[in-house]
Amino acid sequence: MKKAALSLAIALAMASISGCQFTSDAQQAQIEAEQKSPFVQLTDKFIESLWYVEPTWALYEGYHKYDTKLVIPNEEHRALQGKFIEAMRERLLMFDTTTLTASQKIDFKLMHNIVEKMDWELNEFKSWQWNPANYNVAGGFAQIINGTYAPLDDRLRVVLERMKDVPAYYTASRLNVVNPTLEHTLLAIQQNEGANSVFSKELLEKAMASNLTDEEKKLFQQRYKAAKLAVRIHIGWLKLVENSIKGSGPRDFRIGEAQYEKKFALDIQSGMTAKQLYEKAVADKTLIQAEMEKLTQQLWPKYFTTAMPKDSKQATRQLIDKLSANHVEREKFVTEINAQIPELVEFVKQKDLITLDPDKPLVVRETPEYMRGFAGASISAPGPYDKAANTYYNVTPLDDMSAEGAESYLREYNHWILQILNIHEAIPGHYTQLVYSNESPSIVKSLFGNGAMVEGWAVYTERMMLEEGYGNFEPEMWLMYYKWNLRVICNTILDYSVQVKGMDKDAAIKLLTEEAFQQQAEAEGKWKRATLSQVQLTSYYAGYREIYDLREEVKQARGDKFNLKAFHEEFLSYGSAPVKYIREMMLAK
Ligand code: ZN
Ligand code: ZN
Repeated sequence: MKKAALSLAIALAMASISGCQFTSDAQQAQIEAEQKSPFVQLTDKFIESLWYVEPTWALYEGYHKYDTKLVIPNEEHRALQGKFIEAMRERLLMFDTTTLTASQKIDFKLMHNIVEKMDWELNEFKSWQWNPANYNVAGGFAQIINGTYAPLDDRLRVVLERMKDVPAYYTASRLNVVNPTLEHTLLAIQQNEGANSVFSKELLEKAMASNLTDEEKKLFQQRYKAAKLAVRIHIGWLKLVENSIKGSGPRDFRIGEAQYEKKFALDIQSGMTAKQLYEKAVADKTLIQAEMEKLTQQLWPKYFTTAMPKDSKQATRQLIDKLSANHVEREKFVTEINAQIPELVEFVKQKDLITLDPDKPLVVRETPEYMRGFAGASISAPGPYDKAANTYYNVTPLDDMSAEGAESYLREYNHWILQILNIHEAIPGHYTQLVYSNESPSIVKSLFGNGAMVEGWAVYTERMMLEEGYGNFEPEMWLMYYKWNLRVICNTILDYSVQVKGMDKDAAIKLLTEEAFQQQAEAEGKWKRATLSQVQLTSYYAGYREIYDLREEVKQARGDKFNLKAFHEEFLSYGSAPVKYIREMMLAK
């Protein structure tokens, strides 16, 4: 309380000083800009230009300068994107990288990758033509309406301004769509129908009850109505498209090998090709299934008096089913997770696996209402523009679930899997990685960091903890872990098989249910995801495989001098960078 009052006083004093020194302030800013290193000037320019071209992306990252601008996806905007690509490519090409630090070199490569990815998306992949689900205004508006970064009146004024171009937005998007896939057309219908929950009665009531002027309120009402109508017209049009492509035979949702490899290279930034990763996944699947078979034989007599089925996969499935009954009660879900965190901290310390910063303990909390999309647990970290905020481990209590739903959820997150989940999300998984990446702050990495490295680290720690003896080498723990890991592996196999090798739905469901012990509903959901996205499903396994392989490689190279803790800390010190670049740096030592 005291602190707030003091900083407010300082802020007021500053405001009055800057008020009468406007010109010298501008000069000061000019001087400061010139004093910045060429690399900082480059990154500043890059990010500021990118946010100018892609203001909705900026909005999601918590950068609110351009919130009132709803980009109309027309030829003019694509020309602006083209200009950005050309200008930035040129700037990067001209830049002398020899004096950069290792971390800056990675930042440089990340920026370069953004440029190449935008170019490819715009001129080759062209999902802006065949994926109607690219067009939906709801997300950006929801971000502003549910945001807490500014007072409600201010945000309502932004919404008022932003709503102006909603009709033009949808008109332009209809001109873009050529020969779309049926799957993405259906998704577009579903998601745009969701826009009604954003342009809701409550939003209008909020605006009418606000401190907006009467004039503004009148305009708000008009634009709100026009926006709703524009969404309705658009959904009607999408339904016509749906019928027409059903008749004529729609475009295949599969992108094929050439485009898949290119997208994989740009999105994952892996040291492998997609095909190489797929082959590793297939080999890992076989290995793990063999381990599961051994464990099933070992555990069977402990849990069953009947003879083990001849089909080993069927036996494993029955055993997993039996073991899944061991889970916490629904009322104790949050408490149990809370209780496990100190145990994980203790284990990591005792085994000397990585230094955990005692000044940054993890705060476990019940997920706030507005964030509760689905049950589960997640880390919520402050964005780069909101560094002061806390990091939380959000756990959603199962209160809103039916008895049946809760039971099925708890069986999935049973006694063993719940511990693996906590390793993944919290310690030493996502949370620990985040603490390390914040210690070497790089706005480029926090904005454009490598998702495969981040997810790969969390998946890597699951196995590393078990290898170090977490769970006392209990065969049940390993069996459950393998099932969990098999999901990550099969996501890669599924995505590649569907998108590149033409796998159909029946074969996909068979892979997931029979080979990876998944439930029918989960498998159906995965199939749907594999038809709508490409490459994203491989990111967990790609990162995991590369980190694990790197560790083995460093172990070989360093021989007796290898130290696991030192490896972990060095690995994380590079921030959320693609593993292939971290590898280059670590092996160069
Ligand atoms: Zn139960
Ligand atoms: Zn994760």
